[in-house]
Amino acid sequence: MANSDRKSIVVLGAGVVGLTTAVSLQEQGNYNVTVLADAFPSDPKSVKYTSHWAGAILLNGMSGIDGTRNQLMIDAEKASLEVHMKLAASEGEASRAYLRIPAIMYLDTPLPSTNPLCQFPDFKIIPQEDLPPNTAHGISFTTLTIDPPLHLNYLVQRLSAAGGSLVRGSAMHINAILEGGAAIFAGRPPQAPAAIVNCSGLGARTLGGVEDGAVFPVRGQTVRIHAPWTRQLIMNPGPNPEEHTGVFPRASGDVYLVGTKHEDDWYPAPRPELTRKILELTLALCPEIAPPEVRAVRKPVVEDILPLILEEGVGLRPARKGGVRIQLEWLTAKDGGKVPLVHNYGHAGSGYEGSWGSADEAVKLLGSAFAQ
Ligand SMILES: Cc1cc2nc3c(=O)[nH]c(=O)nc-3n(C[C@H](O)[C@H](O)[C@H](O)COP(=O)(O)OP(=O)(O)OC[C@H]3O[C@@H](n4cnc5c(N)ncnc54)[C@H](O)[C@@H]3O)c2cc1C
Repeated sequence: MANSDRKSIVVLGAGVVGLTTAVSLQEQGNYNVTVLADAFPSDPKSVKYTSHWAGAILLNGMSGIDGTRNQLMIDAEKASLEVHMKLAASEGEASRAYLRIPAIMYLDTPLPSTNPLCQFPDFKIIPQEDLPPNTAHGISFTTLTIDPPLHLNYLVQRLSAAGGSLVRGSAMHINAILEGGAAIFAGRPPQAPAAIVNCSGLGARTLGGVEDGAVFPVRGQTVRIHAPWTRQLIMNPGPNPEEHTGVFPRASGDVYLVGTKHEDDWYPAPRPELTRKILELTLALCPEIAPPEVRAVRKPVVEDILPLILEEGVGLRPARKGGVRIQLEWLTAKDGGKVPLVHNYGHAGSGYEGSWGSADEAVKLLGSAFAQ
């Protein structure tokens, strides 16, 4: 299709959801996509941009927040897993962000056989005699971890290569985009888009014209260390929000230590006492994060991990009561014309796990809107 015949689409949001949706739309060949956002992957990390802070492991069905998983999310995770597996196995740039890794998860009760995790490669129930003391149940399987900055930059490059573009701007009301498109945020004459796709994550709570009160943050505090000798993912969802513990190695040799799950907690900076607790819990869960030379001579302690720390951080998972919203709405433009608005936000703790599948769903909704 000639460039001038393509419909111009503004995708609001440059997190993993917005960028994946923008790539999926641009690669359709019918659209010219501009991503409008006030935070991008190349910016310094901030609490305003959750995608930098994800543990970014694929655990379909296990990293959700209670009450925020719906069928759309389950379907999106299933579809996304296939795409992530293909990208990880590819020869190209995309594969650099992925690490295929053996994983262990401890649980209070066995998983129902319908849980998608039971279909993961190498899935096994760990025999009782091999479990640590006071552990009721355990499973092992193979999964992928993703390095968020590498994956996000890959998405930006893929979007640009397909002809999409990025504009920085902060939209206070959806009607500003409806009337002026991304162009007004770039200081250019207004250019009303043919459609808007809203991937604003937590921003959907305050964005004028959307103001979705069901959206709320689930705060996660994390620590990143450099420990390339750790090549086992271990997770213990834990009995309470402070004891949600995970050790997630990445391809770079960095290891992400997570962290907490506090609902409605907006505090943007790491709390030192929680950092200490994360180190204690993750070291107890996985003593292998300590340097091998220390482990060779004695039991490691938290002080052995402190020199390995690269970063502490906080991310706010964009949760939504009732689950992810992937839905078509119609806006009325100034001239009375109807303009489709497709929502794709509220992925809680599963934005990477659901990114490709929810993008597909948004693409389908937009296609159906233009077909009406
Ligand atoms: C500790 C932690 C661990 C996690 N672990 C995992 C995991 O293992 N697996 C997994 O799949 N997920 C995980 N997640 C969740 C994952 O990070 C999120 O689901 C995902 O990043 C959400 O992406 P998003 O694109 O919706 O939001 P964001 O990344 O927050 O992006 C929102 C975008 O919208 C823009 N925006 C919003 N409002 C406006 C506005 N009004 N004007 C302009 N721009 C606007 C922002 O600038 C930004 O670009 C984890 C999260 C945390 C915090």
